[in-house]
This record gives sequence, structure tokens and C-alpha cells, in this order.
Amino acid sequence: MAPFLHIFFCMKQITIKKPVKTSGIGLHSGKRVNLEFHPAPENTGIVFRRIDKDYFPIKADISNVSKLAYATNLTRDGVSIATTEHLLATLIGLGIDNIYVDIDSEETPIMDGSASAFVYLLKEAGFKKQNAEKKFMRIKKPKHYLSGDRRISVYPYDGFKITYTIEFDHPLIRLQTRTLELRSPEDFENEVSPARTFGFLKDVEMLRKNGLALGGSLDNAIVIDSDRILNGHLRFSDEFVRHKILDVIGDLALLGYPLLGHVVAYKAGHEIHTSLAKEIKADPECYEIVGASKLDFISPEGFVMAGEPSIV
Ligand SMILES: [Zn+2]
Repeated sequence: MAPFLHIFFCMKQITIKKPVKTSGIGLHSGKRVNLEFHPAPENTGIVFRRIDKDYFPIKADISNVSKLAYATNLTRDGVSIATTEHLLATLIGLGIDNIYVDIDSEETPIMDGSASAFVYLLKEAGFKKQNAEKKFMRIKKPKHYLSGDRRISVYPYDGFKITYTIEFDHPLIRLQTRTLELRSPEDFENEVSPARTFGFLKDVEMLRKNGLALGGSLDNAIVIDSDRILNGHLRFSDEFVRHKILDVIGDLALLGYPLLGHVVAYKAGHEIHTSLAKEIKADPECYEIVGASKLDFISPEGFVMAGEPSIV
């Protein structure tokens, strides 16, 4: 029998109870940005809106992916939202189906380089169960995407599991591999969300010459020199691979539904993650959209945030 996942996977769609806001700077643009989360009606999905462009909406959908330069950017009719992945990972990780993400600039705020601030903010907003049935994208047959020695696959699985492996020719990283199964919002909050983005000091000059990482600092990224980490201690001994898990959750959020499958990635990145999402979407035999009531491993009690009975 399939494992019984008693929370996280629930019967009804979820939005937030009330609007919440914060501000920060864009990692690549270096621009100051205000961010607001607003409740959204059933079946809206995740929709970004540019406050500074008359609330121009851009759905978090793989068809809107534009240039991928060290981040996953969305563009529709010439209007863009850059560096969406950590925000999207948080929304999927907490089980939120419908939400408006309003920003007044071209890039989301990087906060501390992890998803912790977004988790904190969304918990403050609270979660609200809606009437419509929650839907999932269930993988029915394996799908693979390869580029050189980088690769990613997804396999049928009754749940959402990720196995990620990274390999860097650097003494502080080398080979890191981790399998994580997301069974509850706490799994995301505790095991994934605190992991920060990382970069190498030797690359900083090249990135800045290309107009990237202009907002990057030791406050929002782990910076690695040839033999040391410039900003003190890591939050996990394998924080690097955990951050890659955060990234892939965010990129696969662009499928438009929470995924039921086992994702296995090796030395992948935004380009590879989003390419897999495109391949899945292009092959209707690979998946089905299925309502929660059709899944025998989902509990009627549904989604509960630990310690806080936050559903009304
Ligand atoms: Zn990232």
C-alpha cells in the first residue's frame, strides 16, 4: 500500500488568510523592491503581478520562462520578473495553491539568500482552505533530460521526493548528495528553506561585468574562496546540495501544480530543471492532472502547520 501522507497533501486548495508584505533587494539587479503576498481565488495558481506596471500579471508557468542567467526569470509581453525560484519553492513547499505575488520592480528580493524569510512571512499570513479540490500533476512514466554530464529525471512516485547530487572540484564541497521527501510544510521549513544560495569569489568579477550579482553580498549568499567560506558557519554541513533542492522545487513549480513524483538530479541547474519541466509538459502521456480525492494516500484531515491550527 502507498505510504500514508497525513499532512501537506490535502483535499482542498489553499491560499493565505491575509495580505503580508516585506522588502529587500534583487540579487542580480541590486534594486530595492517591495513584495506583497495576497490571497487569490480558487484555481488562480501562483500569479506574479508588477505593481509598477498596473499590476501586469505573469503566471508562474513554464511557458513564460525567459532567459536563464544564474536564476529563473519569467517574461510575458516584454514584462519580466527575475529570480523567481526561491519564492516559488516556498509556495510549493508550504502547500499553497493560489496566491498573488506583487512586486514593484523587475526582480524578487533575495532576502538572506534562502527561503526562510518567505516562510516566516507566509506563516504570519496564515493559511486558508478553499472549497475547490486540490489538484496534482502525477507523473505516469519516467522522463529524462541530459546536457553533457548534467542530468535530471523524474519517476512515478506516490509523494514528492527529490534526490540531488552536486560535484564541484573544490575542497569545501566535492560530492554532496541528499534525498529529501516533502511530507509536510515543516519538512520544507526545517530541511530546505534555510539553505542559502552560494557562489565562488573567483566568479564575482565576471558576474558583475555581465550585470549580475549586483545586489550580492555576504548578507545574502555563501561566498566561497579557494579554501574557506568568507561568511562564517554553514547552516547545514551539506547546505550547498540542500540549496539545489530548494532551487529545483522552485523551478518545477512552473509546471503549475504540485508534483507527485521522484526527481533525481545530478549537477543540474536552472536551465536543466526548466528543460525537464518543458519536456514533461510537451508529453501528455507522461503525466495526469489528478484531484486529491482520487489519491488513496491523502488524508481527509489535510494540511496542518505544526503547532499552529492555522486552517479555519
Ligand atoms: Zn537558488
